[in-house]
Amino acid sequence: MHSHHSHSGSYSQHGSSPLDSMIEQAEKLHMKTFCLTEHVPRRNAKYLYPEEKNNSDDCVNLDRLYQDFNKFVIHAQWIKKERQNGPTKYIIGTEIESCDEDQIMYAKEFMTKYSDVLKFCVGSVHHINGVPIDFDQENWDLALKSSNNNLKDMLLSYFNDQFKMIQTMKPLVVGHFDVYKLFLPQNLLVNSLTGDVVFERNHTDNNVLAVKDIPSLINNWDEVREIVIRNLKFIDSYGGVLEINTSALRKKLAEPYPSKDICELAKQYCGGRFVLSDDSHSVEQVAVCYREALDYIVNVIKLNTMYYLDDGDGEKLKALPIPIDEYKNDFFWKQSCLP
Ligand SMILES: [Zn+2]
Ligand SMILES: [Zn+2]
Repeated sequence: MHSHHSHSGSYSQHGSSPLDSMIEQAEKLHMKTFCLTEHVPRRNAKYLYPEEKNNSDDCVNLDRLYQDFNKFVIHAQWIKKERQNGPTKYIIGTEIESCDEDQIMYAKEFMTKYSDVLKFCVGSVHHINGVPIDFDQENWDLALKSSNNNLKDMLLSYFNDQFKMIQTMKPLVVGHFDVYKLFLPQNLLVNSLTGDVVFERNHTDNNVLAVKDIPSLINNWDEVREIVIRNLKFIDSYGGVLEINTSALRKKLAEPYPSKDICELAKQYCGGRFVLSDDSHSVEQVAVCYREALDYIVNVIKLNTMYYLDDGDGEKLKALPIPIDEYKNDFFWKQSCLP
């Protein structure tokens, strides 16, 4: 089995296990491919997370991110070389963030600077209007507020930012496609026509629904659906893949990223190319919720083929297909030690 997206406590301050322990766990679980994708450091101090503000001087805090990334690159290369005859293949990449256009350009410089080491990037959006949306509820609420307290506007901002990022970076793997759903309150009342958040329900207005009663937020608004399709077609045009990311399941959401509605559109407009990722930050999170993900892949979105990244013998990285029967009958799933 494979994971195309991981972090560790050695180089990410929200990670909690040393990179070497995570590598040992990946090998213990007979992972065939484990991608090491630490975050590109952020350039602007306003995007530092609380755990990264250890020093009163933000220049020091930003420099630490930069130094950590340089150490990660050296360590990852060492792992790849030392373990080349082991059971697991390591591919070194990075997760880029599209906090704003300046950060996207910075990520692009990084990919060029480290082009001999970083073989691909996971392209992610973690902010809307500069506010982090996968950190905590308070920030998510602020992001909604900054979108005119309108859920449709919030989704439009998210997918338009994603489009800018994919146009500039053409990430081989597009990360957690619908991460905005992490803190989306299921009881949030919205006007299902306009997207406006409704703070007090007026029982005479049948258009006001709780989020949980809207079957698909993507298909509910034509404008949203159209830009999701636009993004998927663009990803298809350069041969990108979407990840099925199990971190949503470990955080107790009903579905992994992306949800079924988006997967259906990806089958139609993006060649149905999916890879599997745990987005692990600790030993316990390596291959976490993979059995639920397999059920989702086989029985819910009903894929005939899964993909994984492979660099052959040092060739350019490619997404290679595996027929679903081969995928689901892999020895990996028979292990009793899966988390
Ligand atoms: Zn991410
Ligand atoms: Zn990540």
